[in-house]
Amino acid sequence: ALTAGIVGLPNVGKSTLFNAITQAGAEAANYPFATIDPNVGIVEVPDERLNKLTELVKPKKTIPTAFEFTDIAGIVKGASKGEGLGNQFLSHIRQVDAICQVVRCFEDGNITHVSGKVNPIDDIEIINLELILADLETVNKRLQRVEKMARQKDKEALAEQEILNKLKEGLENDEPVRAMEFSEEQEKIVKGLHLLTSKPTLYVANVSEDDVADPSSNAYVQKVKEHAANENAEVIVVCARIEEEIAELETEEKEAFLEDLGISESGLDQLIKASYNLLGLATYFTAGEQEVRAWTFRQGIKAPQAAGIIHTDFERGFIRAETVSYDNLVDAGNMVTAKERGKVRLEGKDYIVQDGDVIHFRFNV
Ligand code: GDP
Repeated sequence: ALTAGIVGLPNVGKSTLFNAITQAGAEAANYPFATIDPNVGIVEVPDERLNKLTELVKPKKTIPTAFEFTDIAGIVKGASKGEGLGNQFLSHIRQVDAICQVVRCFEDGNITHVSGKVNPIDDIEIINLELILADLETVNKRLQRVEKMARQKDKEALAEQEILNKLKEGLENDEPVRAMEFSEEQEKIVKGLHLLTSKPTLYVANVSEDDVADPSSNAYVQKVKEHAANENAEVIVVCARIEEEIAELETEEKEAFLEDLGISESGLDQLIKASYNLLGLATYFTAGEQEVRAWTFRQGIKAPQAAGIIHTDFERGFIRAETVSYDNLVDAGNMVTAKERGKVRLEGKDYIVQDGDVIHFRFNV
């Protein structure tokens, strides 16, 4: 399963946020294949559409989809040189599919900041620099090998050499790989290098309790947003301490609490949704009288593969996917009307599943 790693300097609020994640935790019984690892937190993906479908279909059970955050132990300056838990830290980042970088945007005289004062841009740059240095090492090593082959006029080696030189130049200018541009062909080779700064990234601005309702009044948040805009990255504002409290509440209490705070959606819920999108994930639904359920798929997959997410038999014996879009189903009010209106399609094995599809798979056993 794809996972997003929570990364940040010491004392920025990572553990507090990760606590909130595990507190909010998904009902494990629904996700028997989930990783059992203290550094992994499983969260349910909030989705309004699932509530609406439940209203329409009135099933016995409703099951949201879930995914995993991984807590990545502290990075320090010099990680790329193996300082602190440096090497371990980098190898953990290598294993995640996207990065959520927590930055401290709250003042608190009682909580030491590693660099002496709160400065989220410095924090971001410290981490990015360590990742860039680690990538540079990877690129240089590979370059040495490829250069030998390139000297023999090996075509592939020459093409790779060109890419590696471009990567090297960018990285030396402090540019993360995700901000660089490559042709589709080149992109494949870049992917194969598994570089740390090529991973999709978002920033989590951790603000104080007082700033939650109006984060735009926090100058640090503004700076983080400017920085993020330069690399087309998203910024999610949270107050980790409050998220910890919210995570313990039941749905109704939670809504009342959020209203008191003057916000419509918890920071954690926003973070979950943003991370899900960042990983390239989307949701389709199954909606029967027994159970209405959300399923996660990677954008771009075809109907049989999507069926295989429910059960391998569904993929092997796939015949058709009876499909209606969420919007069309809600407009119609029920399946029968949706069918009468011709909104229910019989899709075959080449159909590319769309976010929000409500699907009934037909298959041979
Ligand atoms: P980590 O080292 O990044 O894991 O940071 P922690 O989660 O341990 O947080 C460091 C300190 O900052 C702890 O004392 C937290 O209670 C405090 N802290 C974390 N988030 C917030 C927040 O949103 N507001 C305030 N005031 N303090 C926070």
